[in-house]
Amino acid sequence: MSVDLVEIDPTWKIYGAGITITGPTLRALQTLGVLDEVTQHGATWEGAYVYSQTGQLIEELNFPPIAADLPGTGGIMRPKFTGQVIYRIVGERPPGFDRTHFYMGPDSKLGFNPVSRTHMYMFLLQRSPSNPWIAVEDGIVLAEEVTRDADIDAALPRFMKRRYERGKLVVENSLRLGELEMTHGSPKEHSRVMMAAVAALAQPA
Ligand SMILES: Cc1cc2nc3c(=O)[nH]c(=O)nc-3n(C[C@H](O)[C@H](O)[C@H](O)COP(=O)(O)OP(=O)(O)OC[C@H]3O[C@@H](n4cnc5c(N)ncnc54)[C@H](O)[C@@H]3O)c2cc1C
Repeated sequence: MSVDLVEIDPTWKIYGAGITITGPTLRALQTLGVLDEVTQHGATWEGAYVYSQTGQLIEELNFPPIAADLPGTGGIMRPKFTGQVIYRIVGERPPGFDRTHFYMGPDSKLGFNPVSRTHMYMFLLQRSPSNPWIAVEDGIVLAEEVTRDADIDAALPRFMKRRYERGKLVVENSLRLGELEMTHGSPKEHSRVMMAAVAALAQPA
């Protein structure tokens, strides 16, 4: 199958520093045959610590792998560091820093994610909902549907049927997380909404 890539931006760029790779995206990268390369250059782990703004541990979350041969979650540096950093900063990863650390402030959420054996990135979220992060899966499902038969008019509705509820769940949970962040909501409720999305997205794409 050949693909034509159409891009309106003549200076197609790489944004930011590190990138989080969730369980479903790790599974999608495995389907594409690049998981080993990603884990070799990136970092993987199985959960998160949630702290108050003053550094008290509120709870420890586990992100179970969605298949026996997959890590729970991960991170990797974007292909090329552009120096264009607003809310993300790369730093050295201290020994024993084995998973995501969230610090939940009243108006902001600060977090640290490993991106390799030696480095991690810091992100600061202020009054903005999370981004829906299922684009790699979208690409695979679209490819599956358009290669099943040549009729694009049948393939696109099949793609939508497979993706709609999943995308809706991600958008709604992201909005709910944003609301909780903007209304000083409970960090435990924040974790519950996040873990509900993690469990739902572990289902096949
Ligand atoms: C600050 C930030 C941090 C993020 N961090 C993460 C992360 O850590 N982990 C993660 O998994 N996801 C993250 N995301 C989300 C992730 O970037 C998106 O989910 C993903 O890029 C979506 O991919 P896409 O190919 O669907 O769309 P895009 O990457 O937005 O690609 C769409 C492309 O279409 C082009 N285009 C638009 N209109 C036209 C047109 N008319 N003709 C031709 N081309 C056009 C655009 O220029 C763009 O290049 C983050 C997003 C942001 C904004």
